[in-house]
Amino acid sequence: MKAIYGLCDVNNFYVSCERSFRPDLENKPVIVLSNNDGCAVARSNEVKNLGIKMGAPLHLIQKEVTEHDIQVFSSNYALYGDMSHRFASIVEEYTNQVEIYSIDELFIGFNGFKHYNLTHHSQKLVKAVRRSLGLPICIGLAPSKTLAKVANHYAKWLGVDGGVISLDTEYKIQNALKHLPVNEIWGIGRKLSKRLNSHGIKTALNLRDAEISTLRRHYSVNMERTIRELRGEPCYGLKEQPAPKKQIVCTRSFANKTSDYETVKKAIAYHVTRGCENLRKQSSMARAIHVGIRTNPFSKGDAQYVNSMVMKLPEYTNNTSVFLKAANTALKRLFRERFLYKKCGIMLLDLTQGQVQQPDLFHHVNQNPKLMKLVDSMNHKYGKSTVRFGSEGFDKQWVMRSERKSPAYTTRWDDILKVA
Ligand SMILES: [Mg+2]
Repeated sequence: MKAIYGLCDVNNFYVSCERSFRPDLENKPVIVLSNNDGCAVARSNEVKNLGIKMGAPLHLIQKEVTEHDIQVFSSNYALYGDMSHRFASIVEEYTNQVEIYSIDELFIGFNGFKHYNLTHHSQKLVKAVRRSLGLPICIGLAPSKTLAKVANHYAKWLGVDGGVISLDTEYKIQNALKHLPVNEIWGIGRKLSKRLNSHGIKTALNLRDAEISTLRRHYSVNMERTIRELRGEPCYGLKEQPAPKKQIVCTRSFANKTSDYETVKKAIAYHVTRGCENLRKQSSMARAIHVGIRTNPFSKGDAQYVNSMVMKLPEYTNNTSVFLKAANTALKRLFRERFLYKKCGIMLLDLTQGQVQQPDLFHHVNQNPKLMKLVDSMNHKYGKSTVRFGSEGFDKQWVMRSERKSPAYTTRWDDILKVA
């Protein structure tokens, strides 16, 4: 039997998370905003049907919001992250081959499911996610990941009963590809599809049936892979263990421009802390940190300043306090008074896995793994930032606007849903 790949995808993920705890919003238009309440980053179908585009700035759609009583939410990443995690753990009860592709998309495999009816099995999974999390999902099944994406697209678009579409015959595959514009194919962006269109390749079926050798000459080897995948020859396997990140980036804009050194320092400390947590989570160590600050290039009236620097450490480490010290030294050198800063961030560089160490003869870094472990486990158990480094401070004045954020239903005891 040929391998079958599945793609499980939550429909309108952020919106669905909000609805999960506010069932009164079912069938009502809902929007979730980006950081700092700027633009729409998730829209319910009702909002899509009103013609409001992805990324529409809130101040430009105010009229529609009032007119159609659209419910507007700030993004609540604590909630979405936690729901994503729960989603994955339910999927893992139905198959042990899972690749986490994005916050709301999982590729799955069915090794050892020879005697199963995979469509029925997947329909059960759709029901389980709906029952346990209140999230609507669709699953596409097909002989390659690219085709599984196509199947999922149709399952969602057609709103099929049971939420599952399986492209398991040549007839079904051909039909699906015939009606799919080439730009809807996984990995074919807008630029590529324009070029393909100019070569007369308009639909996914056109691409599948194109001559591989000709296209490989004009495009890249990835194009060949895509064509083979569309033909049902899998070229991309499941990546069950995501590769550890090669660098860790934490950066964010301030809610308001600031010229206050202490505020910038606290924000940097916050980013360093988060970055080091992620570093330890993937069992890595780093030996350099990049610190950057800048003003807002779009504020034409403001004097502009952008600067950054890399601090190298004598040894690899994942000790937060070592990076905090390095970041503070960097900030002291970078910071200039009289500018209004809009953004700052850090990057942890030169990452290594595990315990490989080349100790420096003259400098010694205090590693303190026990303390780091304790901090991580307490924050995991009692909530983010329960234990923190002093330099992070307690007032997060720099944090961006999120005035319409829903409660942290699943990650904070105080916010747990009460049933009267
Ligand atoms: Mg989705």
